[in-house]
Amino acid sequence: MNKLSNIEKDFAQWYQDVIYAAELVDETSVRGCYVIRPYAWKMWELIQAYLDARIKETGHQNAAFPLLIPESFIKREAEHVEGFSPELAVVTMAGGKKLEEPLVIRPTSETTIHHSFSRWIKSWRDLPLKINQWANVVRWEMRSRPFLRTTEFFWQEGHTAHETKQEAETEVQLMLNEYVSFIQGQLAIPVIIGQKTEVEKFAGAEKTYAVEAIMPDGKSLQMCTSHLLSQNFAKAFNITFQDRGKTQSYPYLTSWGITTRVIGATIMVHGDQKGLIIPPAIAPIQVVVVPIYKNDDEKDAVQAHYDFIKTALADFRISFDEDMSKTPGAKFYHWELRGVPIRLEIGKRDADKEQVVLVNRLTGEKNIVPFDKLSTTVKMLLEKLQKDLYQRAHEKMDKLVFVGEKLSEFGPKMADEAGAYITGWCGDPACEQELKKYKAFTRCLLETHKLSQCMCCGKSSKRDVLVAKSY
Ligand SMILES: [Zn+2]
Repeated sequence: MNKLSNIEKDFAQWYQDVIYAAELVDETSVRGCYVIRPYAWKMWELIQAYLDARIKETGHQNAAFPLLIPESFIKREAEHVEGFSPELAVVTMAGGKKLEEPLVIRPTSETTIHHSFSRWIKSWRDLPLKINQWANVVRWEMRSRPFLRTTEFFWQEGHTAHETKQEAETEVQLMLNEYVSFIQGQLAIPVIIGQKTEVEKFAGAEKTYAVEAIMPDGKSLQMCTSHLLSQNFAKAFNITFQDRGKTQSYPYLTSWGITTRVIGATIMVHGDQKGLIIPPAIAPIQVVVVPIYKNDDEKDAVQAHYDFIKTALADFRISFDEDMSKTPGAKFYHWELRGVPIRLEIGKRDADKEQVVLVNRLTGEKNIVPFDKLSTTVKMLLEKLQKDLYQRAHEKMDKLVFVGEKLSEFGPKMADEAGAYITGWCGDPACEQELKKYKAFTRCLLETHKLSQCMCCGKSSKRDVLVAKSY
């Protein structure tokens, strides 16, 4: 019955199977672009609702900037244009004519937003300026995988301007911490946080901080980033303000974003052979009720209790599966595949006894719950599931992160088997480059200093670094 590939033997194919079988995405006729179907979009809406509230509570305002950006804007910041050029989609024709200046479909909005900042920021009184945008962006990808790497994707991008570097640094850390608490709390995914190296940082940034999560195949997935842009973009876009000492200064800028790829991470980290397991916090349906009846009498007996169940579970996202074309068994399979955390079964005998059978998606455990305990039992179990998923994900991650001293020794293992490595690095990009032999990259610099020598040249290590294959 289960058509999913074996999750242990072929994880990549399992992922591909489950996202289509659970109706999360569909293909389109545009390469690298996918439809995000209603069930997955609802997850994104729940993610948005949570983050949007946090973004506003931390003092940011939402706005909307144009999808099309003059090509000259992209070219103003040298590193930025170099980093993004290969991925740009450019509009050269419009209204039946060749455009005088081509327009780039936004790959990210620093340039257009900074152009606006240059018009809005005049004095220190205009700072800090803290703007967020929910949008779609386009980056031309050679190889795509739904959610994880797609030509068009959805995200939020925050852009702020500050009087001092210290304030900008504080902003970068503030949003990084918001992301960490969202990913760990809502997505139930444990993370590793650190700074990107010069080679891996955002094109045009002074510093990039990233939140990385280790997937069950040992590859590292960048969940989100928070950048200290400093004054590079301010200079390129001539954003100046009169500071408190009445001299013209450049503000310090930041940007930070999180994308629909976190849905892909959630699928990979929690799923099992039966399908998805969605953390209750972002589950489109938290409780599915499957009625079981053979004739109209039984149906009436069961349905007589619907109002009670709806009222008892009014605080949760609940759905009744009344599809008469399917057997109960087929329904169980369907909702397990779609990762609904709790299933309630109710037949005539249960209805007569005023009870339901409650099934836990994570453990498969079944329990009989009397009506008067239904509300509290569901509430407690959803909370427990959220914690248990995090705990289980942490245990899985711990088994995939190793300490490695010499790249020549752990490199081949990293290339062939699942696993990420914490190792030492001297800071020389040439040593970082050696990782490519093993299809791996530096993921982030850690705050720790456990290893004294560089993985590659053996010189003294500046600090520990996480290295892994990546998505
Ligand atoms: Zn080295």
